Amino acid sequence: MTPDPQPLDPAQMRELAERSVDARTRVVRPVRETLADTCRILAAEGHESGLAGQISARAETPGRFVTLAFGWGFDEASAQRMVEIDDDLVCTDGSGAIANPATRFHLWVYRNRPDVQAIVHTHPPHASALSMIGVPLKVSHMDATPFADNCAYLPTWPGLPVADDEGRIISAALGNKQTILLAHHGFLAAGESVEQACFLAVFFERAARLQLLAQSAGTIGEIDPALALHARSFLLKPSIVGATFDYWARRLGRAG
Ligand SMILES: [Zn+2]
Repeated sequence: MTPDPQPLDPAQMRELAERSVDARTRVVRPVRETLADTCRILAAEGHESGLAGQISARAETPGRFVTLAFGWGFDEASAQRMVEIDDDLVCTDGSGAIANPATRFHLWVYRNRPDVQAIVHTHPPHASALSMIGVPLKVSHMDATPFADNCAYLPTWPGLPVADDEGRIISAALGNKQTILLAHHGFLAAGESVEQACFLAVFFERAARLQLLAQSAGTIGEIDPALALHARSFLLKPSIVGATFDYWARRLGRAG
C-alpha cells in the first residue's frame, strides 16, 4: 500500500511555488517593440503628462540608448518612433530624430549603475501628489513590496533635469535602489529589464494612489520588513514581471 504523501511544510511550498514560476518561458522581443509597449501601457495607466516623462533602455551597442523620439506622446509610441542616441543625446540611427532633452539625467543613472538596463520617468497624478507633501513612499501593502528598501527619496527639486547637475543629483540620490520619489516632480524607476522598469513604474503610481487613499482615511500601519523583502524578491522575479508585462501588452491589443 502506498503511504499517504506527507504534507509540504511552508518552506517547501514556497520553494515549489518559486520553481513553478521560474519554469515559465516567454518570447523576448526587440527592445524598440518592448519600449513602445511600455509607453502605451503607461499611457493606459494614467502616466501621460503632455510630453513630460521619458523612457529609455540600453541599446545592443554599448554606449547607445533607445528612447521615444521627442514630440510623440506615450499613447502614440511605436517601434518606428524610437530613436537611438549616444551618451550625449546625439541621434545615432540616421533618422535625424531627437530625444526629449530631459532624457539627459537618465544617462547619469546608466553611467553610475551598470545593472540598470531601462529607465522610466513620469509625472503621474498620485506619485506627483505624494511628491508635493514631503512624504516618502510607504510600504504597507503587498503590492508595494517591490519598493521595500528599494525606494529612495529626493526631498528637494533641483529644477528641470535637462543639464548635468540635475543628473548628478538624481543619480546620487537614487544610490543602489531601483526607484526614487522626486519631490515636487515625479518618480524614476530603474529596472534590470524594460519589463521590470515598466512593472515598477505601474506599481509605483498604484502604491502612491493607495497611500493617499489610506492616509486620508486613517493611520497607515507597518508590515513585517522581513516578509516585505521576501515578497519583493518573489514579485520581482523575471518570470512574474514578464508574465505581468505580457498580460498588460495583450490588454493593449484588446483595447486597439
Ligand atoms: Zn520629469
